[in-house]
Amino acid sequence: MLVKPTLVVATLSEIDLHRLWDEGLRGFIFDLDNTIMAPHTGILEDHIGEWLKTLEEMGYKSIVVSNNPIKMYTDAAAKTLNLPVIGNAGKPRRKMLYKALELLELEAHQVAVVGDRPLTDIWGGQRLGSKTILVDPLIKEKEHQIVKFLRRLERMFVHPGPH
Ligand SMILES: [Mg+2]
Repeated sequence: MLVKPTLVVATLSEIDLHRLWDEGLRGFIFDLDNTIMAPHTGILEDHIGEWLKTLEEMGYKSIVVSNNPIKMYTDAAAKTLNLPVIGNAGKPRRKMLYKALELLELEAHQVAVVGDRPLTDIWGGQRLGSKTILVDPLIKEKEHQIVKFLRRLERMFVHPGPH
């Protein structure tokens, strides 16, 4: 198994939206925790909110697919983001990613799956046949050592570049 994100970026704003549009991309499937929101905060930072607005203005469609099982939380996130949020998704399983494509009314090749976790977000997106974008987690410093260790391990599976 090899996880090969199409792009690896430090922050969402590094994503070249015009270039992706020219390549035929029309939508994004975002991970929630640590990708567009700091975990457990329910707070959308201004710069990310602005970036999401830019996407919408350009004509991109967006949806959030999260493995977070707490419905109250994912429902609240949907309200804050003003985007549909599918929770308890079980990524890297594809079932809910297919559902997201259905809701976006887009094909897999027209969508990029964006997330901070190689083995759930990126692996799922790769299996879906979509472009994948790995971003650095929004919050790193509060993580336990074991989580940091697991993240390092996970990154060992990552080989940036075209599929
Ligand atoms: Mg995440």
